[in-house]
Amino acid sequence: MKQPLIIDVHGHYTTAPKALEEWRNKQIANLKTPELGPKVSELKISDDELRESIEANQLRLMKQRGSDLTIFSPRASFMAHHIGDFNTSATWAGICNELCHRVSQLFPDHFIGAAMLPQSPGVDVATCIPELEKCVKEYGFVGINLNPDPSGGHWTSPPLSDRYWYPIYEKMVEHEIPAMIHVSTSCNACFHTTGAHYLNADTTAFMQCLTSDLFKDFPTLKFLIPHGGGAVPYHWGRFRGLAQEMKKPLLTEHLLNNIYFDTCVYHQPGIDLLTHVIPVDNILFASEMIGAVRGIDPETGHYYDDTKRYIEAAGRLSEQDRFKIYEGNARKVFPRLDKALQQKGQ
Ligand SMILES: [Zn+2]
Repeated sequence: MKQPLIIDVHGHYTTAPKALEEWRNKQIANLKTPELGPKVSELKISDDELRESIEANQLRLMKQRGSDLTIFSPRASFMAHHIGDFNTSATWAGICNELCHRVSQLFPDHFIGAAMLPQSPGVDVATCIPELEKCVKEYGFVGINLNPDPSGGHWTSPPLSDRYWYPIYEKMVEHEIPAMIHVSTSCNACFHTTGAHYLNADTTAFMQCLTSDLFKDFPTLKFLIPHGGGAVPYHWGRFRGLAQEMKKPLLTEHLLNNIYFDTCVYHQPGIDLLTHVIPVDNILFASEMIGAVRGIDPETGHYYDDTKRYIEAAGRLSEQDRFKIYEGNARKVFPRLDKALQQKGQ
């Protein structure tokens, strides 16, 4: 069997040059007086700076750990859709997506983009479509990150099954792009951003789909639930039981043609459980590197987010299973990625 291409479906540009954050801070400082700037043209980041920020960080670790290609999106906690209004988010999303596009142009063999959307609480999601289409058509992006809670921890939007979201789903189906369901920073003191809000959102998104018939309306819609699916695999029996009480079909039929999980689970027993409970066809390799958890596990001596080690060590996986997790499933869930790879003869 040929060696799989190691595709990491979940990476963010967390190492962007400081100028980006400084621009954003000025934008936030002038929320009430946007005429005072900053202008988009005031942000100047050279190709050399971009190259350096990637080569010293993500690309270095990818080479060390043996992954080939990362689906690369803007830093999730910086999306902060709760800040300002639609125009604030539109300008910010445009800047962040363009930087990911430039990274993918500088390192076409190693990065391909996924878009952040200019969501804003209470605003019609159809306003996100121009940015989505620009990213797909002009930048060659292969997916989007969809924030189910643009309020940042207060959950003021309708559930993902609500028709409110349908304009985005229609575009996703039309362009064959999946959405990673990904919240941003928490501005609710009860929820730590990466330790609680992210995992809560993963679990919440799954349950919103479970209680609804969303995928009857959109049979080809695909969601990737990150961070190993939050609490979902661990509580699979609860979810099966709840679905049964609600007279829903078996979860394999009801949700698993449309919902996938990544491997951003930072210890071996977690990956063992994920690969035991969730069918291998629904698991995609990812690390979310360089992201939430950057340290070294003293129990193993390896980085927590070096998730390839756990896949390699997961005893129950066959070579064919690993091929699916590393490459096959990503090509299936991200058809535009598959086409881009085929065009390169891969
Ligand atoms: Zn993430």
